[in-house]
Amino acid sequence: MSELGLNSARETARLAAQQRVGVAERSHEWAREALTDLADGSLATDDQCALEAHLATCASCTAFRRTYERTVELLQGLPPAKAPAEAKRRVLESLP
Ligand SMILES: [Zn+2]
Repeated sequence: MSELGLNSARETARLAAQQRVGVAERSHEWAREALTDLADGSLATDDQCALEAHLATCASCTAFRRTYERTVELLQGLPPAKAPAEAKRRVLESLP
């Protein structure tokens, strides 16, 4: 194996070991819920650190984060939905 290949294999093993430790610290489910709290500004500072640590070692949650952020971005780009006139009329009629 070449020097470069050996270093690459060692780096891969090191990252795999790091990933096992990092993923064990917090669950994927916790991280994905924390992402929504982060988005609405309700994630505590120490949890933000734990989330970043998890994301640094977890490819699947990092992919989830990209998808989540892109989804929010696309939804924010949509024009506001307008209720049909009939629905608006019925709501207004039902008001006291
Ligand atoms: Zn994860």
